[in-house]
Amino acid sequence: MADLKVTCLAGGVGAARFLQGLVRVVSREDVTVVVNTGDDIELYGLHVSPDLDIVSYTLAGIVDEEKGWGVKDDTFSCLGMLKNLGCESWFNLGDKDLATHIYRTHLLEEGFSLSEVTAKICRSLGLEETILPMTNDRFETRILTDKGEMHFQEYMVKRGMRDRVLGVRFEGVEQAKPAPEALNAILEASGIIVCPSNPIVSIGTILSVRGIREALKKTRAKIVAISPIIAGTVVKGPAEKLMKGLGMEVSAFSVADLYKDFLDVFILDTADKKQKPRVEALGIKAIVVDTLMKTMEDKIRLAKVALSCL
Ligand code: GDP
Repeated sequence: MADLKVTCLAGGVGAARFLQGLVRVVSREDVTVVVNTGDDIELYGLHVSPDLDIVSYTLAGIVDEEKGWGVKDDTFSCLGMLKNLGCESWFNLGDKDLATHIYRTHLLEEGFSLSEVTAKICRSLGLEETILPMTNDRFETRILTDKGEMHFQEYMVKRGMRDRVLGVRFEGVEQAKPAPEALNAILEASGIIVCPSNPIVSIGTILSVRGIREALKKTRAKIVAISPIIAGTVVKGPAEKLMKGLGMEVSAFSVADLYKDFLDVFILDTADKKQKPRVEALGIKAIVVDTLMKTMEDKIRLAKVALSCL
């Protein structure tokens, strides 16, 4: 695997856990991750990029492993004070985590792009991987529900996914350009991995950015995806509710179907092995393995399977 340059498409927690395994079998400097920014939100005047932070904190080894997000052993004094001051405090921002958002916002205000800011943060965290936002432009995932339209974080965190999903809208998608290095990372990779992430609001957002899907169709790199659906349901998060709300069948097959115009290989869980012929009927090679990542050994094993497909 000496000169393998791997580009990954990623959301938050599911992707970050997979990447922990990947960087133990591929040199860190040969890994580029294109990350969803549709979840980004402005809070207290600060630019918060949840998926970028989950991926960088995880790869830097400072993530709160139990939650999958935030910095381990963080405190919440600032949030407590904001609450005392009468501010909304539904989005859990730890004190150390807030430092990242303050730094990011400060640099954005100085005129740096989100790509440049992300590179600076990664360098400070000692990361050798390249982490890229999918776009430097404003892009916001909006969820249409029976209680009205709202920001994705409002649907998921503030309202705990309790509203009925009627649709999903990507605000800014017409104008958003891919981050400059993202297209190159796809076109020049020797292999591409679509991480086990939400197919609608993590991978779906990345694919909606102008030119990204075309680059995936054009690249000569082999492309493998790992199913985020196990036994016909999600491990965690809103993917099932969103897929249902969009009138989709919730299955590994449905995910493969969303990626069928560029995908070479789809890794689905042993619990979904019955879906294999349906996936193969899409013209995609299907590999059946255990995909649940509980331990580091699980993550490394899954990374090795994905790499063997490239
Ligand atoms: P989020 O933005 O933090 O929700 O994270 P992602 O978009 O990266 O991932 C969420 C998806 O990852 C969900 O659909 C989960 O079902 C899936 N996922 C989480 N853990 C695992 C795992 O261990 N194995 C597999 N195959 N999928 C997982």
